[in-house]
Amino acid sequence: MATSKKPYERPVIQRLNAGVTGKFGQPSVTASVSNIDGNSVDALIQQFGSPLFVISENTLTKTYRDAERAFTNRYPKVQLAWSYKTNYLDAVCRIYHRLGAWAEVVSGFEYEKALANGVEGSKIIFNGPGKSAAELEKAIHNQSLIHIDHADEFYVLRELVQQNGQSARVAIRVNMDCGIYPQWDRFGFNLENGEAFNMIEQICSVDEMHLEGLHCHIGTFVLSTQSYSIAAAKMSQLALQIKKQFSITIKYLDLGGGFASKNTLKGSFLQGQDANPSIDKYAEAICSAILKSGFNENELPLLILESGRALIDESGYLLGSVLSHKRLGDGRSALILDFGVNVLFTAFWYDHKISTTQVHGQWQEDMVLYGPLCMNIDVVREHITLPPLNKGDKVVVHNTGAYNMTQWMQFISMRPAVVLIDRNEKPHTIRLRETTATIQAQEKIPNHLTHG
Ligand SMILES: *Cc1c(COP(=O)(O)O)cnc(C)c1O
Repeated sequence: MATSKKPYERPVIQRLNAGVTGKFGQPSVTASVSNIDGNSVDALIQQFGSPLFVISENTLTKTYRDAERAFTNRYPKVQLAWSYKTNYLDAVCRIYHRLGAWAEVVSGFEYEKALANGVEGSKIIFNGPGKSAAELEKAIHNQSLIHIDHADEFYVLRELVQQNGQSARVAIRVNMDCGIYPQWDRFGFNLENGEAFNMIEQICSVDEMHLEGLHCHIGTFVLSTQSYSIAAAKMSQLALQIKKQFSITIKYLDLGGGFASKNTLKGSFLQGQDANPSIDKYAEAICSAILKSGFNENELPLLILESGRALIDESGYLLGSVLSHKRLGDGRSALILDFGVNVLFTAFWYDHKISTTQVHGQWQEDMVLYGPLCMNIDVVREHITLPPLNKGDKVVVHNTGAYNMTQWMQFISMRPAVVLIDRNEKPHTIRLRETTATIQAQEKIPNHLTHG
């Protein structure tokens, strides 16, 4: 960086405060980040506005390849399926599909998106408890993999295939005790109480239904790799039992997603980056459990994974600006930022890594980060140590690729633009900033309110 004039830092009088110390003492301030994949944060904000989501195609590609390698190094047949609800911007989905991912969808809307993104019907996994009869019919027609969630869905599906005489490729979602409490038993059929096996029996009695796989998704941000070992072992045992009892070879085991990203959960003692299991640890737990479970070598099922969060969180950044610095009644320092929990939904769960964009002096302060909403819940961070920042300064929130761009709320203000930086470091708008017109387009005014 050229030595330009150093930015002015206002003097601060600070009450001595131990702050939240960890095993390694005071949390250190992260180095400033002024540039993402060759694009300066200032220039990006100038061109595309603030706040702004940025996705790095480089990081996304690398994370995907690392995950794929972690599994293919340990197991002969692996297929990743991109979890649409984690981030269903079409440009993002298309990158994953080009890298070889199938689509994992949980609604008719996501199913349509996958088709429009060019995914073959047979490479779409249709999950979720809310599939309509019309959506199921389409999935049957396209030979998609239908993962049955509950008995009523099975009855609708059975009626459809028997009416049309067309066969369906199905799996059931299984829930089980794998050491995570509370158990996610609201989705699928329970293993331990025999419900899963009963459903399998019923499916096997319908000629038009082909039971191809078994599916589970044991939780999200699951930090225990041991739980995946248990899940993979139990799923394998179930597949072997089906083989024995019905002479049906289960073609695939879908272990779902739920792997942690590098984010730090609120209240966590250590930084997520240091403490969360790597993708290799998850892969080792799952692959070794399946390999040990007693399948004939030539009948090993395809292993499908539907990881969302762990594949995209690190590629996403949220850039924003400081609207104001203020002192709270008790003397604490606070910043008002131009983005809040409406845009950064995951601030409810994570202490995101947040960095400044300029070089600062030694001084750091404990502060609170607020969003711009006129709502008491709009707290981006209760506690963070940052250099003093002033109106107009920029901040970079890291690890924001997962769930923010699907769970963001149009509340009080509009949603920001999303920019993809391609592998040649060129930025592209992949979602336009919303305007008043975007929102107004959905509204109607009844006649009696139009005039006067
Ligand atoms: C949400 C979801 C995923 C992805 O979960 P992550 O925690 O983001 O990895 C995968 N499979 C199913 C069925 C889901 O509902």
